[in-house]
Amino acid sequence: MTDRKDQLAENLARVEERISTACAAAGRSREEVTLIVVTKTYPASDVRLLAELGVRHVAENRDQDAAPKAAQCSDLPLTWHFVGQLQTNKVRSVVNYADMVHSIDRNRLVTALSAAAVRAGRELGCLIQVALDAGTQERGERGGVAPGGVLALADAIAEAEGLRVAGLMTVAPLAGEFAGRPRAAFDRLMEIATDLRATHPAGNMVSAGMSADLEDAIGAGATHVRVGSAVLGVRPRLG
Ligand SMILES: *Cc1c(COP(=O)(O)O)cnc(C)c1O
Repeated sequence: MTDRKDQLAENLARVEERISTACAAAGRSREEVTLIVVTKTYPASDVRLLAELGVRHVAENRDQDAAPKAAQCSDLPLTWHFVGQLQTNKVRSVVNYADMVHSIDRNRLVTALSAAAVRAGRELGCLIQVALDAGTQERGERGGVAPGGVLALADAIAEAEGLRVAGLMTVAPLAGEFAGRPRAAFDRLMEIATDLRATHPAGNMVSAGMSADLEDAIGAGATHVRVGSAVLGVRPRLG
C-alpha cells in the first residue's frame, strides 16, 4: 500500500503543478479551481489513500460501483460527485451518497432526483450537462442537453424540492464544430454559464476539463476540473 500511496502522491503533485501553472497563466488564483479526482474503476482503498493525501472531492460515473465504494468510505471527509449518465431507476441509490450530480440533462431526471432527495432528506447540488455537440451523429450515448435547453432545465431544478441549481458541466466534444478544439468548447460553455447566472446567480460552478484538457478549461474559467487517469493511472477499460 505504501507504494501505491507514493505513486498517487507523485501523480497528485504533478496534477497540482499543472493546475497552478494554468491558473497563473490565466491570471487566476489557485483557490478559484477545485480538483475533483475521478476514482471510477479504482478501489475504495485508493479513495482512502487519496483522502489521506488531502483530496476532498471525488467523482464516480456508475452507481453500481460508486454506492459500495462510498459506503466503505463514509468515515472520510469527502464530497461525492456523480458525473455519469444516470438512469432514473438509480436515483434513489445515488442521492444517498452524492452531494452533487453533474449530469442532469432531462426533466424526467429532475423529477426523479427531487422525489428521491426529499425521501432521503437530502439536498442535492445539480449541474446541467451541456452537449456542445448536440445534433451530431457521432455523439452516441454521452448525454447532455443542447445549449438552448439549459435555462428551462435550470428553472425546473430551481422549482424542484430537494434540488438546487449548482452550475454547468461539459465534456469536450469529439464531433461537430468543437471537435479537437477544447478551448473553444469551454469558452462557449462559459458564455452559457454567464447566461445561467443571470437568472440563477447561485449556479456558478463550471465543471470542465479532464486529464487531457484541464489547462484549456482553467484558461476558459472553469471552477472545477474532473481528473481521473492523470492521478490514478490509465484505466484498463473505458469506464
Ligand atoms: C472519466 C471521466 C472523467 C475523467 O477522465 P480522465 O480522462 O481520466 O481524466 C471526467 N469526467 C467524466 C464525466 C468522466 O466520465
